[in-house]
Amino acid sequence: MKRHRLEKILIISRVPDLYSNQRLVQELKHKNLLYQIIPPDHEKIQSACHGILEKSVAALIRLASWRFQEGLEELKKATDQIPMMNSIESFEASRNKWHALQVLEKNQIPTPLSQMISREELSIVDLTYPFVLKEIFSSQGLGVYLIQNLQELEKALQLLKESDLFIAQSYLKECHGEDLRIFVTRNGDHWCMKRKNSSGDFRSNVHQGGQGSKDTATLDELEMAFLALKIFNLDYAGIDILRSHGGPLMIDVNPSPGFEKLEAIYGLQVAGPLVSLLLSKF
Ligand code: ADP
Repeated sequence: MKRHRLEKILIISRVPDLYSNQRLVQELKHKNLLYQIIPPDHEKIQSACHGILEKSVAALIRLASWRFQEGLEELKKATDQIPMMNSIESFEASRNKWHALQVLEKNQIPTPLSQMISREELSIVDLTYPFVLKEIFSSQGLGVYLIQNLQELEKALQLLKESDLFIAQSYLKECHGEDLRIFVTRNGDHWCMKRKNSSGDFRSNVHQGGQGSKDTATLDELEMAFLALKIFNLDYAGIDILRSHGGPLMIDVNPSPGFEKLEAIYGLQVAGPLVSLLLSKF
C-alpha cells in the first residue's frame, strides 16, 4: 500500500533553540520537508495544520517536566487531528515514574525497591536512611534527592513544596554518580553512553554535571531497553539503567530524550534516524 506523503512535520517543544530540535530541523530541511516548531498549545497546532490535509501532518513531541501535565492536556485535544510520535498515551504512561516502575516490574524488568509515599506518611513512618526521594514527574535529575537523615528529608520536602506524593527508593550506593543511558528506537537503532558525575553529586544527569562517554550495553541491558520500548508502545526512548552489584536495574523510561551528548560522542547520527522513523510510521 502506498503511504501518504507527509507534507509538514510539527516539532512540539517549548524551547525551539534546543540542540536536539535544531538537529531535527536540519535533517527535515535536508529531506525538503516543511516543519514548524510550536509549543504544546491546541490553537497553535490548529493554525499550523491550516490549509493542509489532516493526514499529511505529523508531530514529534518533545516535552520535559516544565508544565508537563498542562502541555499534555493541550495536546490531547489535538491528537484526533494529527498523528504524534511518541503518542500521548505512551508519553503519559512512561513519564509517570511510579506508574512506569510498576509496569516494568510487572513485565519482569528489574527496578530498585521502591514505594509510593505521601508527604504526610514521610513525617510519621519510621524511615531507614539513606534512600532516594523522587518526584513522580521528575526529569533531568530535578526533584531527585539522596536523603541521609531527617534534616535532609525536611530540606528536600521544603524544596518540593508543590508535590504531595513521592517515590522512596533504595539507594544503590555502588552506582553513586553513574548510570547507563541507552537511546533506542522502534527501528532497532541504539546508542549507549555511560554518564558519570565526578562532582560528588549522586545524580549522573548531564544537567547535573554528568559527563557522557561511549559504552557498550550488554545483551541483557539491550533486551531490557527494547522490551521497555515495546511495553510502553514508544517509538523511541532514553532508557536509564543502574549497573548495580545485583545486575542492571531500570530507573527511567524517558519518552523525550535529548541527544546532544550522544551526537557529541557518536557523531551526527541520531537526528537522521529519528526523522526516518517518523516518516516510516505515517
Ligand atoms: P530523572 O528522570 O529526573 O533524571 P532519575 O530517576 O533518572 O530521575 O534519577 C536521576 C539520577 O539519579 C540517575 O540518573 C542516577 O544517576 C541517580 N539515581 C536515581 N535513582 C537512584 C538510586 N536508586 N540509587 C542511586 N542513584 C540513583
